[in-house]
Amino acid sequence: MGFNRRKMEDQRRQAAEKEAASRRATDAQVIEDAEHLIGAWNERQAKQMPMLLSPTIGAVVTAGYWFLWVRCPACRSTSSIDLRRLDRHPEAAVSSLIPALSCRSCRPNAPFAELVRLSRTSIADEMREEHRWRVLGDD
Ligand SMILES: [Zn+2]
Repeated sequence: MGFNRRKMEDQRRQAAEKEAASRRATDAQVIEDAEHLIGAWNERQAKQMPMLLSPTIGAVVTAGYWFLWVRCPACRSTSSIDLRRLDRHPEAAVSSLIPALSCRSCRPNAPFAELVRLSRTSIADEMREEHRWRVLGDD
């Protein structure tokens, strides 16, 4: 009896470990695939090529690209949106945000935003980096 129970617990533990290992492998694969897709998407956006497909918000956040940089075609101002803070379905495409984005300075007649790129850093982070670099350069 005691032996059987231990055997069952062993089997259960082994099954759980196996499942956890395969989940980790899947996660790594998801991140790798997402990075490929995000890289290709950023490149296409930079070249202003027509959008063929768009990464999902969930994939982008999982891969650590938390910021979507958007530009207003009217006033040319660029800002970044923290995708982690949105209440959107994780399987919704990043491009599905376009109709919901509106430039503060051009309201109420703001044109649709242009999606610039997906980034690991926000505009504010980038500006701080630039500032830090400039300060160092002055030394
Ligand atoms: Zn604007």
